[in-house]
Amino acid sequence: MWPRLKNRVMPWVVRSVVALTVASLFWWVPARVEMTSFIMMERTEQLERVDNGIFYSTPWRVIYALKYERLTQREVEKLADNMQHLDCVATDSGVPNIVLIIGESHNKHHSAIYGYSLPTTPWQNEMAEQGLMVAMRDAVTPWNVTSSVFKEMMSTHSCDQHGQWTDGVLFPALMRKAGYRVGFITNQFYKTNRQTSANYNGSFFLNNQPFDSLCFDYRNVKHYLYDIGMLKEMESQSQNKSFVMLHLMGQHQPYDERLTKQGHIFSTKDIKRKDLSEDERRVVADYDNATWENDRVLKAVYDRYKSREAVIIYVADHGEEVYDGKIGMFGRNHMAEPTLEIMWAEFEVPMEVFVTPALKKNRPWILAALKEAENTPFAIDDMPHLIMRLGGVQTKYYDKERDLLSPNFQVRQRPVKGGVATYEEIMKKKERK
Ligand SMILES: [Zn+2]
Repeated sequence: MWPRLKNRVMPWVVRSVVALTVASLFWWVPARVEMTSFIMMERTEQLERVDNGIFYSTPWRVIYALKYERLTQREVEKLADNMQHLDCVATDSGVPNIVLIIGESHNKHHSAIYGYSLPTTPWQNEMAEQGLMVAMRDAVTPWNVTSSVFKEMMSTHSCDQHGQWTDGVLFPALMRKAGYRVGFITNQFYKTNRQTSANYNGSFFLNNQPFDSLCFDYRNVKHYLYDIGMLKEMESQSQNKSFVMLHLMGQHQPYDERLTKQGHIFSTKDIKRKDLSEDERRVVADYDNATWENDRVLKAVYDRYKSREAVIIYVADHGEEVYDGKIGMFGRNHMAEPTLEIMWAEFEVPMEVFVTPALKKNRPWILAALKEAENTPFAIDDMPHLIMRLGGVQTKYYDKERDLLSPNFQVRQRPVKGGVATYEEIMKKKERK
């Protein structure tokens, strides 16, 4: 009896095991391919975009961390090689005070200065009317991720060039070598990698001891609930030449947390969007209020310099979705294929250059060159060349074809998201309705 039963049952057992094995391979193999693909990655900005959800177990998290550590180490070593002997000459022609304010998650289309219907930027509009500010109309960021933008904007290498950001040098070190006292005041990054893991991505290269010493004379150790508090960290500006990078929390979500007591200017009644729910209109109103708060911060910084000869550049690291298009969301969308709508909301960025009355009087060429460049397509990873020009820095790393103020500036295609496409290619597909 048993042998007969065995002969009948066993083939079915074998078939079932084979069928289950084949079926499970269809699930198992793609899952493993996705999990292991990051091992082949060569750049930290790629690694940062890996979907964290697939690392559900401790061993995979450890492997990921080791990979990340190895890549950051490699990038830091490459930069260190490049920065061993910085060639740089100071000249007397530099603007004495230069400030680079780096905003956060600023959708320019929610700024009145760029045509938004609500008065979210009263001070910026006033400055433009007085002829003390030029708003660049066509500035684009290469990434919609803070840390990646930082790498590209701090490096003299640009995204449309062969190689990667570590093939350049960090331009604050050149400013310092040219005699500027350089400060970095950030309301996001910490001065040490140990304080937070999320911060590691953003500033690992700035916290590396040799680069920290090469680039900066001083940094802040405290963070502030509101960006306006960071002004306490700015020095009294007694130096002859000063370059300060001020990195804001800006309009980072949650938007209502950016609002001081004065900051509740707009309410849901002001958001004339019948297609949105009350909650969604609340989000938009909070965002617009955060943009209004940002305007106050820019004014406060300017006021500290207005009696001096100074240029203050404001640029956002990237934009933000605020329920504007069909995408129907707020925050940022990190889908692999960036669309025209994502370009509009997240990659077009505000870039404004403010000058003080003393600068306007003593160096009229700067304002004239800014007005000339107002509508010129500009990629913000070329920022180092503009700032080095303002600083009168003479170095082989300065490229006049990337300097927005130079008559030799060359308009280029602007790669986004590590070169998956250019802004121009995406915008060509169809005009926004
Ligand atoms: Zn950001």
